[in-house]
Amino acid sequence: MNLPPVEDRLRRILELTAEESRKCKACGALLFFVRHCNGKLAPYTADGVNHFVNCPSAERFRKGAPHAASASA
Ligand SMILES: [Zn+2]
Repeated sequence: MNLPPVEDRLRRILELTAEESRKCKACGALLFFVRHCNGKLAPYTADGVNHFVNCPSAERFRKGAPHAASASA
């Protein structure tokens, strides 16, 4: 049996599952937006990693979010 590489299969699943796909405004990576059970859209890269985790400019996504440290004060 000659299966395509796992990366190709994963990407195909993301293409079928994602509601939307576009490039990251910060780093230009191709993202697949998949809706989680909680109703929120999450950006995934073609290798199946949540882009909040692997974006080199991930700080930008948290812009405007309250700091966890100050919330406990
Ligand atoms: Zn990015």
